[in-house]
Amino acid sequence: MTQPTFSICVYCGSRPGADPSFARTAAEVGQWIGAHGGQLVYGGGNNGLMGVLADAALAAGARVVGVIPRALVEREWAKTDCTELHVVDNMHQRKSLMAQHADAFLALPGGIGTLEEFFEAWTWRQLDYHAKPVGLLDSGGYYTRLLGFLRESVANGFMSDWQMDLITVGEAPAPLLQALVQAAGTRPRGVDVSQF
Ligand code: AMP
Repeated sequence: MTQPTFSICVYCGSRPGADPSFARTAAEVGQWIGAHGGQLVYGGGNNGLMGVLADAALAAGARVVGVIPRALVEREWAKTDCTELHVVDNMHQRKSLMAQHADAFLALPGGIGTLEEFFEAWTWRQLDYHAKPVGLLDSGGYYTRLLGFLRESVANGFMSDWQMDLITVGEAPAPLLQALVQAAGTRPRGVDVSQF
C-alpha cells in the first residue's frame, strides 16, 4: 500500500443511532477517506457507527489504524482486520496515540464518548496544544441544538467567537472532509485544492 496522502482521526458512536441515515453518513466518510488515498484513525471498535466507518474505509482502500484500550477489546469488539490495531493500556494512551497519528479531527454523531473526544480536541486546540483542524459533522441536524447552546454560551459571556471559529462545521461529509484536509495542509489524492 502506498503512503497515505493524509490522516484523519474520526470520533463517532459505538452505537448505530436510531436513524439508518447515520450509518449511511459514516459509510460515506469512510469511503471518501479511502477514495482520496487517506488514512483513518479511530477507536478500533466494530460496534455501531465505528464499525460501519472502518468497514467502508477498508473497502475503499484506506489504511485504518484502530486504537483501543485492553479493557474494551471485548466490550467494543476490537476490529481485528484493521490495517494496524493498537491495544493500549488505558484511555489516555488511546487518545494520545490517536492524536499523534492524525492531521485533523472529525466528530460524527455519537454519544458521550464521542462528545468527550470532540471537546478535548477542540479545547486543546484553543490552548495551542495542537494546531490541527477540528470538524463537526452535523449530520441530519444531530448537532444543531448543541451548536445553538454553544452560541448561547458566547452570548452569556463564557465563550468568544474566536473559539467557535476554531471548529469547522458541515452538514455533508465530502465538503467538510475537503475543508479539513486542506486546512491540515495535506493533499488528498484526486482533489483539486485550488477549488477550496
Ligand atoms: P460513544 O459516543 O459513547 O458511543 O463512544 C464512542 C467511543 O468513545 C467509544 O469507543 C468509547 O470507548 C469512547 N469513549 C468513551 N468514553 C471516553 C472517554 N472518556 N474518552 C475518550 N473516549 C471515550
